Amino acid sequence: MKPGRFDYHAPGTVDEAVGLLAAHAESAKVLAGGQSLVPMMSLRLATFEHLVDLNGVAGLASIERSNGDLRIGALVRQATAEHDPTVAAAAPLMARALPHIGHFQIRNRGTIGGSIAHADPASELPAVALALDATLEAAGPGGRRSIPASEFFESTWQTNLRDDEVLTAVVLPVWEATSGFAVEEVARRHGDFAICGAACGVTVRGERVTRAAIALFGVAPTPLRASAAEAALVAAGTGAELAEVARQAAAPLVPNDDLHATGAYRKQVIVTVVRRALARALQEACS
Ligand code: FAD
Repeated sequence: MKPGRFDYHAPGTVDEAVGLLAAHAESAKVLAGGQSLVPMMSLRLATFEHLVDLNGVAGLASIERSNGDLRIGALVRQATAEHDPTVAAAAPLMARALPHIGHFQIRNRGTIGGSIAHADPASELPAVALALDATLEAAGPGGRRSIPASEFFESTWQTNLRDDEVLTAVVLPVWEATSGFAVEEVARRHGDFAICGAACGVTVRGERVTRAAIALFGVAPTPLRASAAEAALVAAGTGAELAEVARQAAAPLVPNDDLHATGAYRKQVIVTVVRRALARALQEACS
């Protein structure tokens, strides 16, 4: 299959990219790694008259740690972040999620910002952003703004970004040293999108759990925080009955059926996924 006709634009700055998006309103789309957009266009699931390619835009591909935050430019390749020692040290949950994305060929081109902006419900990185209370930085005709991850994901493939905005970076707060992180998921084959999964982080002090984040993916149109289960884990501490915490995380879910699995299967298997992720995160935090 081939995509429909489109005009290709190669801006050199964020302002130029935003100007092109604003000029062509709803008929334009940003191109980053192309690993989701190009297949969709080639299969004619989506058609756009203008593609605004971010690959030549300056300043979108840096990784910087400062003031307790890790800032990852939107155009940083998934493979670059996967092997970056600063990401591994400052945002272990991100580093652990990345190998789950497709195959290395996809990660060589796919970008951090593209995965988050695409907002596939089964994607790992939106759940990581949500778990870590990330902030998404965007630029538009009205200037720059910061969007909390909790407000960013609106539905399947839909975010708070406007058509004329570019996601420029994701900012992840660095957690305390006594923290542990894990990503667990179930997929039919290695490299497939997850049927469902969990991205978890915990901070411990002695036997107390002072912070817990449980973000679920593949079980709803957006990634979800399991807030009640997080509170239960904090209340119970490191000796918590993790199977019970995991059941609490799954209880409110009403996942959809699709070609890959039924909603009932997802709701059942997410309990095991969360339990395993929490066990690994706690083990790391306590060691
Ligand atoms: P593109 O494909 O270029 O763009 C995707 C969408 O995001 C487009 O709508 C585009 O306009 C928008 N966009 C991109 N960047 C920006 C930006 N900076 N600002 C505003 N809008 C932007 N992903 C997973 O998470 N898990 C998987 O297991 C997985 N498996 C895959 C398997 C296969 C076979 C393939 C082909 C892809 C898979 N992916 C998976 C998707 C992959 O992670 C993509 O790289 C990612 O979803 C999109 O990133 P991209 O940079 O390629 O963006």
